[in-house]
Amino acid sequence: MYSIENCAVSRDLMEYERRDSIAEDACDLIGHNMLMVGPPGTGKTLLANAMPGLLPSLSESDALTVASVRSVAGVRFEPADWACPPFRAPHHGASAVAIVGGGRHITPGEVTLAHAGILFLDELTEFKRHVLESLREPLEAGMITISRAEYRVSYPARFQLIAAMNPCPCGYAGDERGFCRCTPDRIARYLEKISGPLLDRIDVHVQIGRLSSEELRKPPKTPEPDSAQLREQVTQCRQTQFVRQGCLNRELDAERLDEFCPMQPAAESLIQQSMEKLHLSARACHRMIKLSRTLADLDGEQIISASHVAQAAAFRHFAVRSLTA
Ligand SMILES: [Zn+2]
Repeated sequence: MYSIENCAVSRDLMEYERRDSIAEDACDLIGHNMLMVGPPGTGKTLLANAMPGLLPSLSESDALTVASVRSVAGVRFEPADWACPPFRAPHHGASAVAIVGGGRHITPGEVTLAHAGILFLDELTEFKRHVLESLREPLEAGMITISRAEYRVSYPARFQLIAAMNPCPCGYAGDERGFCRCTPDRIARYLEKISGPLLDRIDVHVQIGRLSSEELRKPPKTPEPDSAQLREQVTQCRQTQFVRQGCLNRELDAERLDEFCPMQPAAESLIQQSMEKLHLSARACHRMIKLSRTLADLDGEQIISASHVAQAAAFRHFAVRSLTA
């Protein structure tokens, strides 16, 4: 299991008490769907809120789409918002119609309002199961089709999903101080709210641990890059992807993986092994290859190595499932 300890974040990335691997990973892997699991008060929400500030401005065509969507949805659009990547954070009580769109006079939902930006679902397990299941189509297709007897409407819905949840109903499973009083059965029922197919569509699972007050006082291990540097890093990483294939790695079709995700033989055999050992679906396997592509890009490598695949597998190795293992 990929485990990240010692994370404390504040609203602006520059104000991190201590920038550790979680923040760096979260920023580097921006674009890939991500689930953060950790006890309350570890900064999951704050980190998600800081992420839009790292995204580059939208292209002209995306900016136009985002403005049109808001207009159709009747959401106020300020000129200052032009070309800003959207960040939508619906409440967990939201209905399926509010999330994916619909209604008597069909209007776009949150997945469309988040197009070209981020959809943040805090307290993921508190969303109704059927609402979460309705995310599967847009997460896979990058669009959502709503059908009525007489007509159907398709809206764009290409967003990065960032979700956050506690590890158990009380929030303290895994805490060394033994605060958690939830029974294994109760934890299992709690985690069952997130279906396997939905988890399959989330590439990066990170576990966030709590910082002790002593750790909070320690100086950071390395000098902290500021938001501008991080934004530059994210922009460059995205640019590499657009120049090579005209889209983000996340959006590569299965048919184009061979062309754009060349792998060393050891990497290929590791993918095979992971498929067998982790019982990965073809979809999960393709997603792991795309995540490996991003990790190789961050290392400036053309060819994906076994270590990139191993990292991607670790990221995908379900912080959630390991809680019940
Ligand atoms: Zn608990």
